[in-house]
Order: sequence, then structure tokens, then C-alpha cells
Amino acid sequence: MMKFTPEVYGIPDEAMKPFIDEDEINNYLKICHPSRNKLTCIIKKSLDKNRLSLEETAYLLNANEPEMIEEIKQGARELKRKIYGDRIVLFAPLYVGNQCINNCAYCGFKASNKNVKRETLTSKDLIEQIEHLECNGHKRLILVYGEHPDYDANFIADSVRSAYKVKKGMGEIRRVNINAAPLDVEGYKIVKESGIGTYQVFQETYHHETYNKVHQSGKKRDYDWRLTALDRAQEALVDDVGIGALFGLYDWRFEVMGLLRHVNHLEAVYNVGPHTISFPRIQNAYDLDIDKSHLVSDGDFAKLVAILRLAVPYTGMILTAREPAHIRDEIMQFGVSQIDGGTNIQMKGYTKKEKEQQLDEEQFVINDDRSLGEVIQELLDQGFIPSFCTACYRLGRTGEHFMEFSLPGFIKRYCQPNALLTLAEYLEDYASPETKEKGNKLIADKLNEMKENDIKKQLSEKLRLLKEKERDLYF
Ligand code: SAM
Ligand code: SF4
Repeated sequence: MMKFTPEVYGIPDEAMKPFIDEDEINNYLKICHPSRNKLTCIIKKSLDKNRLSLEETAYLLNANEPEMIEEIKQGARELKRKIYGDRIVLFAPLYVGNQCINNCAYCGFKASNKNVKRETLTSKDLIEQIEHLECNGHKRLILVYGEHPDYDANFIADSVRSAYKVKKGMGEIRRVNINAAPLDVEGYKIVKESGIGTYQVFQETYHHETYNKVHQSGKKRDYDWRLTALDRAQEALVDDVGIGALFGLYDWRFEVMGLLRHVNHLEAVYNVGPHTISFPRIQNAYDLDIDKSHLVSDGDFAKLVAILRLAVPYTGMILTAREPAHIRDEIMQFGVSQIDGGTNIQMKGYTKKEKEQQLDEEQFVINDDRSLGEVIQELLDQGFIPSFCTACYRLGRTGEHFMEFSLPGFIKRYCQPNALLTLAEYLEDYASPETKEKGNKLIADKLNEMKENDIKKQLSEKLRLLKEKERDLYF
């Protein structure tokens, strides 16, 4: 395994402290109990756009009185409104292959599940699935892979390149993110070349003992190899990365601290934090074989998402269709920036006629089976701006989430107009008449509210060009 030493990176010893120090985390969780004043000060620090320390985050995690929890949620809502506005970016997951050499106790695709049908999409299958997604209006994908010798860096890179080439009707995929097992530095270089957006890999649990218990065999047993995946990615100049923990394996407070420690590490060593944080919560799966004592209640889930929002105010936050629609609606207010829509995680699931979920054909159960059209309509009803924007990535403005957060006026000048443009494009090409009417009204309202005359003028012109069938317009 690659060893990271201060000499390699010319960084202070402090940054290279053992990366996940369980005693340190447990100690903060033990001693940090907030007074009301303390809590208010910490939330204010976050609203002033500062990332919280491990200690401050532990205070939030230990806030148990209902009024305190409400104050945390209110803080997260305010942060979302004040800094990011109403945009929600939409994407679709696509499973490329479910062969897997690992035995993760929580996953339906684990190697020991012999009854699961194993499939890898052929290039024809891949094209068919993507054409289907494009015909529904998707522009952003996350490709997902099991861990298997067949899914090496070249295979992943080929599938990413193929995805970008699929064009159906007015459709195209403009950003391909991936969720794949850890690679070595050479592997990341190959994948980087194919033009990936974000590279995601989740530690699942930062707690060593639990990690060992639930990763029963296969390469994924190696905690450190997975934990240092993003260090190797950085070395290969893959700097747009996503971290995550699978909530329900161990104490959720510990996992939030683990995620934050991971953020600290990336910031300290590479001067760039994660682009996104994911917080999947365990769902039922074929032969789910875990200790259920750490499953996270809906109330704690809402609290942990609000705390993550406050602890790392600059990062993107992803909430998936694992959660039912009513939970997604609630949690979205706490600072979520991306959701999936029209999700199907069965192999070749997007083109299957039979939409019933089959546990032996998918990794886990999903609980929000609304179509993309339905999700968009409901976002509009709640006053959100559904967005398919990919502008920053394509203009080389990497770290866009950080720019949105830190550059004054960036959201007004770029993000909001681009969200409206991609929404308008969706409405023209894919929406039902009802959604089109609602969406066009929202666009008109937002245009009216705009105070910056130059942006308003340019946006109006681009919206006019869209009506004349020009596509892919952005700032
Ligand atoms: N094979 C890749 C890996 O292990 O990194 C990709 C895994 S999968 C698509 C992405 C994530 O789904 C996993 O990292 C895990 O956090 C999550 N997951 C697995 N089983 C789950 C379950 N039963 N419920 C909810 N999420 C689950
Ligand atoms: Fe394989 Fe990933 Fe499932 Fe583990 S979580 S069994 S590595 S597909």
C-alpha cells in the first residue's frame, strides 16, 4: 500500500496524524455536551461559512433536547437558503456490472449470494439503458460497478467514454460520475483520462471493528486500502471526489465524526475537500446479514444530515432514492444539493417492462420509485429549481461547489441562470404539459426577481434561443 508521509507532500506532521483515530473521536463524543449558548455559537460559525472542527461537531451530535435539535435543523435550513438557494441537481444511477468478489454483509450483490443473477452490461446494453435515460431527460449519470477483475480501470474508462457518446433525439449525457472500488494510482490516471466527473467511494464505516465484521472476505476487507483510495486518486490528479458512510452499521455519531475527519485529512493534505458527501442509510437487501442495533431512526437521520450540512458548509450533499419520497422531501431542506430521479437499480432495469423490484436482482431496495417527471413536478410544487447543470465541469471550473460557496455573486451569475436554462431545456424536450406550465411560470418568476440587468438580459436571450431549438446553452 502507498504510504503517505509528510516528506512526500511537504506538509506538517499535524496533518499526518493517524487518519482515523478512534480514541480521539470517542473522547470528543464523551466530553462535548453543549449548553444552549455553545450550540448557538457553533451554528453561527457555520452560517458565517466556516467548516466546523471535530470538537464543535461533537457538541452538535450530543445535542439531544428537542429545542436544540430544532435549532440545528433551522441552522441547516438557513444555510441552504442563504448560501445555495433553491436549486436541486438531478442525476440517474446506472449499474454497469454486479459481479463482485467481496462479501459485504449488507449488500445483495455479495459474492456468497449465489442466487443473484450476475450480469455485466454489453456495449449494446449500455447504449440501450442510456438512450432510455436520455429520452426521459437525464443529462447526468453515475455509473456503478461491483468489485471484480473484469471491472478494471480500462473497463471503467471504456464504459465512461461509451456513455458520453450515446446521443438519442435531443438527448446526451454531459457528466458521468462513477462509484467504483478503490484503484491504484495508475488505475486512477486511466479513469481520469476518460473524462469522469466525480469519483465516489464510501468508507461504509469508519469504525475498524465493525468494518472487519461486515466485510467478511474479498479485497474490501482491507480498511486502509479503502480509506486511502482518495489519496491515490489525488495523486493521479482526480481531485473531484465524493466520500460517504453507510449509516446503520455502527453508531451514527461516530460515522459523522469519521466523515469529518476524512474531510479534514483531504483539506490538510491536498488543500481540497470532497466535492460531495453521501449518507446512504441501510435498506433491505437479499440475505441482509447485519447487527440491527445501529439502524438509524428517521429522526436521527434528519438530525445527522443537518449536522453534516453545518459541519462542512461548502460541500455538495447527495440524497438518493433509497429513502421514501416523504423523507426525501423533509431532508432536502437541510441542505441537500443532488438527488436521483426515476431510479431503477436492477441490471438493465430501465428498459425492463416488469417494474416490480426483485430482491435477487438488485443491490438493495429503493423506496422512491417516482419517475423523473414526477420528481421534477414535485420539486417545482415545493419551489425548488430542478437543475441538470454541468457547466462548471465542462468549462474546467473544477471545485464548483466550493466556488458557489466562496465566490460572492457566483450563484447569481452562473448557478441560478444555468439551472433555469437546463430546466427550460428539459421542459421543451421532455415535460408533460402540466409540468411545462409550472416550470415556465417558475422561470418567469425567477427572471422577474433578478436584479442584475446584464444577467437578466443575457438569460432572456438564451431562453429565446432555446425555444428556437438551440441546445446546451450555459454561462
Ligand atoms: N461496489 C462498489 C463499492 O463497494 O464501493 C459500489 C457499491 S454500491 C453501488 C454504492 C454503495 O451502496 C455502497 O458503497 C454502500 O454504501 C451502499 N449500499 C450497499 N448495500 C446497501 C444497502 N443494503 N442499503 C443501502 N445502501 C447500500
Ligand atoms: Fe460488492 Fe460493493 Fe456490494 Fe460490497 S457493496 S458486495 S463491494 S457491490
